[in-house]
Amino acid sequence: MHELSIAKSLVEIAIAEANKVEHQVEAVHIKVGALSGVVPDALMAAYEFVTEATCLEGSRLVIENCPVQIFCPDCNKLTTLPDTQNFDCSQCGKTSGDLRGGRELELTALEIRS
Ligand SMILES: [Zn+2]
Repeated sequence: MHELSIAKSLVEIAIAEANKVEHQVEAVHIKVGALSGVVPDALMAAYEFVTEATCLEGSRLVIENCPVQIFCPDCNKLTTLPDTQNFDCSQCGKTSGDLRGGRELELTALEIRS
């Protein structure tokens, strides 16, 4: 279950940031791409486990799911894909391997309790 190690490293970064601002963290926002290989539900569960007895205990993990985006050089067009099955340009239908989104796995923001 690699969500556990991912949650661990995300939480480490978040704790380091929280220590900098010296405030209680309300929520941790992350971006998870459709191709990142992370199962959001599993990450959610792992987060709860990993934050136990840390300064992030009780905080929420807010996951923003990022769809796959491909760029078609022929149409000069970015297509947002509805799933990860087909990588076809929505305009010409040609398959493109030029990925512009979907692999995200990053911490985007911390919500601080005021
Ligand atoms: Zn195209």
